[in-house]
Amino acid sequence: MKIAILAGDGIGPEIVAQAVRVLEALRSDGLKFELEPGLLGGCAVEAVGEPFPEATRNLVAGADAVILGAVGGPRFDTLPRHLRPERGLLSIRKALNLFANLRPAVLYPELANASTLKPEVVAGLDILIVRELTGDIYFGEPRGIECRDGQRVGYNTMIYSETEIRRIARVAFQAARKRNRRLCSVDKMNVLECTQLWRDVVIETAKDYPDVELSHMLVDNAAMQLVRNPRQFDVMVTGNMFGDILSDEASMLTGSIGMLPSASLDDRNKGLYEPIHGSAPDIAGKDVANPLATILSVAMMLRYTFDKEAEASRIENAVKKVLAQGYRTEDIYETGTKKVGTAAMGDAVLANI
Ligand code: NAD
Repeated sequence: MKIAILAGDGIGPEIVAQAVRVLEALRSDGLKFELEPGLLGGCAVEAVGEPFPEATRNLVAGADAVILGAVGGPRFDTLPRHLRPERGLLSIRKALNLFANLRPAVLYPELANASTLKPEVVAGLDILIVRELTGDIYFGEPRGIECRDGQRVGYNTMIYSETEIRRIARVAFQAARKRNRRLCSVDKMNVLECTQLWRDVVIETAKDYPDVELSHMLVDNAAMQLVRNPRQFDVMVTGNMFGDILSDEASMLTGSIGMLPSASLDDRNKGLYEPIHGSAPDIAGKDVANPLATILSVAMMLRYTFDKEAEASRIENAVKKVLAQGYRTEDIYETGTKKVGTAAMGDAVLANI
């Protein structure tokens, strides 16, 4: 198992260090893997002048999986757009053809009070959001800012082919089959032709999955339903931009953005695994970031790319135990629990592995 480690910027190096410790702990059980570090994002711009350098391109092309911390930060926000860290992120997803982003939002019972929603609304929450990741308005051409009739105009293109829609729909239907067999497709077909096609193709694809109950929801309603009655959902599938927003919303239902892992897969289950949060520059270098989302991303990697269900469950169970024992980083802390820093949270997980 060849695993590329891209720590990135901000809290990236701190949280990835804890995830690597957890992975290393499984080596003693006979898990065989090679880890190789690489540069992505702002750290790559500073070191070699571009966010997704050739060396990293080669590293990830030859790896079976990639663990990523996060990229970005205010000091890179004034760089020309093609040099910004986020461009590195979009480029690596595109280069590896990682079109399927799986984002579970699970509420651990111990964290029911960490949610800003009432416990009775979120108790037992277990949603999987399947987001298309390589298309849509984030990649569509033409795009730009230019002068027209004496004033600046900005524009982007929302575009999906039926092939792109069908392949992400299949991933979502298959994921629903492994869960409660309910899939909600989210679009904006009342306004956007692009998403009318989305709905048509999802309905066509559903014919191959008669055992999965398919429903449709407009994105504005979906945003509302996620906070009104989130437990109505099992699996949700949507495009890149709507998925970006809805999955962050879903993450807050669970209490902390620092708890949620994600997997981005190609059609052969090669994957990039990362927490859903960003580089959190406001808390970088302070040993307060929650490393659990990154640690849980390692579990997803073992499950989806390497088919190591037992090892994945060991990590997930260790995280559950740590929460049951009362360990909390600042973002999920409440009175009566034990506040720990990033490294101490890593220690606690290791102690339970
Ligand atoms: P963010 O996710 O970095 O932070 C949002 C808030 O959540 C902050 O208050 C932060 O302190 C907190 N937070 C995030 N992760 C946490 C953790 N593990 N533990 C505790 N608290 C945590 O989002 P932002 O502030 O909008 O963006 C900061 C930078 O990250 C920007 O440059 C942005 O472009 C970048 N970003 C990168 C990715 C990625 O690499 N995948 C994703 C989103 C944003």
